[in-house]
Amino acid sequence: MFCACGLHRRGLFKAAAGAFAAAAATPRLSLAQAPAPQPAAGSPQRGNILLRGGQVLTMDETLGDLATGDVHVRDGAIVAVGENLSAPGADIIDAKDMIVMPGFVDTHWHLWSTALRMIVRGDDPRDGYFPTTIRVGRFFKPEDSYTNVRFGVAEGLLSGITTVHNWCHNTVSPQHADAELQAMKDSGIRGRYSYGAGQGHPSDKPMDLADVARAQKQWATDDGMLGLGACLRTPGVDNTRGAISVDLFRMELEAIQKLGLQGTIHCGPKNLVDLLGKNKLLGPELLLVHPQGMTDDELKMVGEARSPWSTAPVIEMSYSFVRSGRTQYAEIKALGVPLGLSIDASTATNTDYFNVMRALMWSDWQRTGAPVRVKPRELVSLATIGGAKLMGLADKIGSLTPGKRADVILVRASDINLAPVKDPYHAMVFHGQPSNVDTVMVDGRILVRRGALAGVDVPKLIREATESTRGVEERARRG
Ligand SMILES: [Zn+2]
Repeated sequence: MFCACGLHRRGLFKAAAGAFAAAAATPRLSLAQAPAPQPAAGSPQRGNILLRGGQVLTMDETLGDLATGDVHVRDGAIVAVGENLSAPGADIIDAKDMIVMPGFVDTHWHLWSTALRMIVRGDDPRDGYFPTTIRVGRFFKPEDSYTNVRFGVAEGLLSGITTVHNWCHNTVSPQHADAELQAMKDSGIRGRYSYGAGQGHPSDKPMDLADVARAQKQWATDDGMLGLGACLRTPGVDNTRGAISVDLFRMELEAIQKLGLQGTIHCGPKNLVDLLGKNKLLGPELLLVHPQGMTDDELKMVGEARSPWSTAPVIEMSYSFVRSGRTQYAEIKALGVPLGLSIDASTATNTDYFNVMRALMWSDWQRTGAPVRVKPRELVSLATIGGAKLMGLADKIGSLTPGKRADVILVRASDINLAPVKDPYHAMVFHGQPSNVDTVMVDGRILVRRGALAGVDVPKLIREATESTRGVEERARRG
């Protein structure tokens, strides 16, 4: 069901896609079908690997942590976790002085706009994130979408992110959807592509629901590497990007549900949760983003509907959105509904997942007066198994549990900003940064080794991202 060939690229972004595919293509095939190993060191092929002698945080409540332990990975699966494992024939990766843990799971990220940070300014509302993305979004070509996703994912991998929820509220055409999905595939990252109407799409017209179904059929895999969803436009009024009617929203949500997909929506406007609740639109099939500014009645609705949430604490603190509330983490936690962390927009902030955890901790402490302080382990849990549960992937990833897929990162505890480490959770949440990420493995493929991306020409990628934004800006200027 997965198309690994170039036939469906429609030729529009073949040049850009081909360049990266040649360097880092990672088709989702069984080992028996996999292409011959690439000769380059660190090429992202699966193998038989023993991560030896690290401090292992399994994030599995049963297995717990190992002060010194090994993780055996074979053909993309975690085979065993324990002390002094025997793995004849395995390639050994020395994990001494490393924290070995599951990769971070992002739950909401607008990868399409990453390189627009060249023209977005955080200190001038006229050139802020919203006016800029609205102004230039419709001038994206499929190759711009491709480049932006490759660019954003590259930064994400270097931060230890192994799963992304690519929240694309700028799917200008089916070719743009294909470009983004191809970029996710070529990057080797795990993720969901949430298909959304393009910027400026008429608010009385449905999104391209037929193409959501087409993309799902063409791209979704049953191995958990690539899935589809839909990001819907906000119903009601009082929305920066323009609102759609409740009836249109309901129609789109129902169509998405018929495909077995989850919808997702930004919850910026005031009283939006009230509107959704009163129209019986809340529920597990709709992932809500930005838990801020809810009234007690709205929180009650969320609890009763078991609505899942994604929070982007860095962005929520810096933008505060329309409702001007800080992240209601304590309330969401009390409700016991699923919650995950997210980058949101690397256009407006950087892709530092350690900082995402840190921001939520500080936000909660400041907001609640910290009568009960959120602990670092809870934040690391949210960033890994919590995100996996939110994305419906907990049977495959989120913890270092034998039988799960091998999405594993190694964090250098010997770095000057982390050492000396006593409590690895505390060290990472208070002091961690992307430069501490040594190795990143997704589905058994090593995509980052010794802090460098495998098979990616980073200067070239930056050049292409720069040229993409220049081109988009120029076309937008001409109108
Ligand atoms: Zn967002």
